[in-house]
Parts: sequence; structure tokens; C-alpha cells
Amino acid sequence: MKTALVTGGAGFLGSHLCDALLKNYRVICVDNFFTGKKENIKHILGNNNFVLLEHDIINPLFMDEKISYIYNMACPASPIHYQYNAIRTIKANVLGTMNMLGMAKKHGARILQASTSEIYGDPLEHPQKESYRGNVNSIGIRSCYDEGKRCAETLCFDYYRQNKVDIRVVRIFNTYGPRMSVDDGRVVSNFIAQALKGKNLTLYGDGSQTRSFCYVSDLISGIVKMMEQDNFIGPVNLGNSDEFTVKELAEMVIKMTSSKSKIVCKELPEDDPQRRRPDISLARKKLGWEPNIRLEEGLMKTIEYFKGILK
Ligand code: NAD
Ligand code: UDP
Repeated sequence: MKTALVTGGAGFLGSHLCDALLKNYRVICVDNFFTGKKENIKHILGNNNFVLLEHDIINPLFMDEKISYIYNMACPASPIHYQYNAIRTIKANVLGTMNMLGMAKKHGARILQASTSEIYGDPLEHPQKESYRGNVNSIGIRSCYDEGKRCAETLCFDYYRQNKVDIRVVRIFNTYGPRMSVDDGRVVSNFIAQALKGKNLTLYGDGSQTRSFCYVSDLISGIVKMMEQDNFIGPVNLGNSDEFTVKELAEMVIKMTSSKSKIVCKELPEDDPQRRRPDISLARKKLGWEPNIRLEEGLMKTIEYFKGILK
């Protein structure tokens, strides 16, 4: 049985990825528990093919056993978490990714980098294709994440060109689902938690900004498909191309939870992207992948999860 190492494996996406990989691989989960939780992986802690390693990828990691696949997911992903210690966020993306690329080189492992739609910044092209080079503010409050992730992509391609490291790069668009932290400040978790608690839903700006929300199981299947590709290294967009305004999302959540909550407007954060929708034709063509869970269906599953943890 081959071994896959998942950094950030105790986080939202990482824990779902560990679940999926355990069907075919021995899995080593590496996490520093900055935003990750034991709760997310407690159901697999007793699995003989699962190993948990508490480690910060900013520091080098040496593994004796042969690693065949590395999924580099470690990085705080919500604006409040990645802005909490901006310098650490840059280090996780730059030093952390270099450490993982170094491990991939040593083990002859294939490495997949979790990049992001944020590398397009506040996009001037819509929808966003992989060929678009983006519109990122290099000195703003989101830059530690956006520029960190851009540099991580650069590192991947330089290790590929210079050291023949076998890379895969996916650009993930807004993904939601069970195991998102209630307190991570992202829009889906905020709105659902607020609606279930009967608190006002905090709409930033006038809510006309758009996002395209992908359900977690769809995203994980895309990530695994990309890792299995032999002749395509990316970058490739992974996301759902159904686009909604944030206000529409707030209204849907209120309706689906039968909540009495009201919507209140708050100040729009600096550099908040106005529109975001992935062009996923490359993923369709190269991976034969597309999401199939519609927003209402995914929201229902997520609402059920939040009802369970907010009891
Ligand atoms: P998350 O915060 O739930 O997970 C991140 C995990 O990485 C956590 O378990 C955290 O403890 C761990 N971590 C952070 N810094 C670390 C470090 N230095 N060393 C070891 N572990 C560390 O976020 P998520 O939504 O699951 O995101 C996972 C990855 O996917 C991130 O790289 C993120 O940038 C990327 N991504 C996510 C989305 C999304 O919508 N969820 C969108 C684009 C990209
Ligand atoms: N947002 C909002 N209310 C909230 C949290 C977020 O209106 O309580 C908005 C935010 O300003 C952004 C969108 O929802 O326009 C998505 O925010 P999120 O932090 O989930 O992701 P990102 O901005 O990184 O795409």
C-alpha cells in the first residue's frame, strides 16, 4: 500500500481528503492545529493506516518511510485566520511549500499544491480562466495569502523545471460543507451559524459581490482526479461555476433555516473581490470532472451539520 502525506489534514478540506484517500492508501496527516481540529479526524484516529503527526510545515520535515504522494493543504484559509498572523501565513506558503517540495524531490513523490482563486485577486476578467494573470494588490491586507499562494505556485513550477519534481497545481474556488469551523468568518459558516442562532446575518457591503460555491465532496473528487493525472500538471481551476451574489446566499440561508434573523449591512473589507466565477472547461476536458451538487442541496447538508454542532 502506497503512502500519501496530507499537510493540513486536520482542517476542513484536509480531513475530507484523508477520508477519501484512506480507501486506497496509508495516510499521514501533518498539522499544527492552528485552525485544524482533532474533532475532524477523530473517526479515523483508530485506523491502522492513519498516522497523525503534529508538525508545523514552516520547519523541515524528514520522513523515514517512503512517501509517494504529498497533498499540500496546510495554510489558514479564511480571511480572519490568515490575517491573524500575516507573516506566519506567508511563511506557511513560502517556507512550508519549499519544505514539501524538498520532501517530494527526496522521495520522488508526486506533490499537489492547494492553490486558490485568490491568485486572480479582484479579477478584471470574468469568468476566470487559468490563463488570466490576475489583479492582486501586493501590499494590502489579503496579500499575505494571495501573494503567498502565488509564490507557492512559482516554487512548484521552478522545482518542476529545475529539479523535475512531479507537481500538480489546483486553484480552488470557494468551497463549503460539513467541518467548516463555526468561527472561521467565512460567509457560508457565518450565515448558517447566525441564522440558526437567530442572530442578524452580517452582509458586508451591499451584498452585490458574487461568489461561486462548491460543495466539499465535489471538490475532493476533483483534487484526487488531478493527483491521478499522468500527463497534466495544471494549474487547473476547481470550483462550481454557478454564481450567486452574497445577498442571494443570505436570503437562501434564512429561507432554508426558517430563521427569523434579519440581514444587516456591515462595512465591506478592503480588497474584497467584486466578482468570482471559475471557468472550468479545462477541468472538464483534462479530468472529465465537474461538480454535481447544487447550492441548495449542499447548503441543506451543511445546515444539518451545523445544527448538530450548535445543539
Ligand atoms: P482550514 O483552515 O480548515 O485548514 C487548514 C489546515 O492547515 C488546518 O488544519 C491548519 O491547522 C493547518 N495548518 C495551517 N498552517 C499550518 C502549518 N504551518 N503547518 C501545518 N499545518 C498548518 O482551511 P481549508 O478550507 O480546509 O483549506 C485548506 C487548503 O485549501 C488551504 O491551503 C487553502 O488555502 C486552500 N483553499 C481552500 C479554499 C476553500 O474554499 N475552503 C479555497 C481556496 C483554497
Ligand atoms: N461576507 C459577508 N458576510 C460575512 C462573511 C463574508 O458578506 O459574514 C462576504 C465577504 O465580504 C465576501 C464574501 O462574503 O465578499 C465571501 O467571503 P469569504 O470570507 O467566505 O471568502 P472570500 O472573500 O475569501 O472569497
